[in-house]
Amino acid sequence: MTRTTYRFREQTLNPHTGEDAERTLFAMECKGCGESSDGTEWGEDGSAWAVEHLKANPGHLTYREHITRSYRFEAGAWL
Ligand SMILES: [Zn+2]
Repeated sequence: MTRTTYRFREQTLNPHTGEDAERTLFAMECKGCGESSDGTEWGEDGSAWAVEHLKANPGHLTYREHITRSYRFEAGAWL
């Protein structure tokens, strides 16, 4: 009979930053019609898009912000 031993390692989930990380993107979605901004690295762009969208669609008063941020597990100590 063979016995197998497993070792486990702590992992910590952190926002993935650095040159190889995907950019964090902010986009704004109109809850009235589902239309959304393109998504940029600056949250203010989504707010500006919502203002313009409201001007064109006066009844569209509610919005949802979508933030896309990548995360990565970092290896820690062996247990
Ligand atoms: Zn709308």
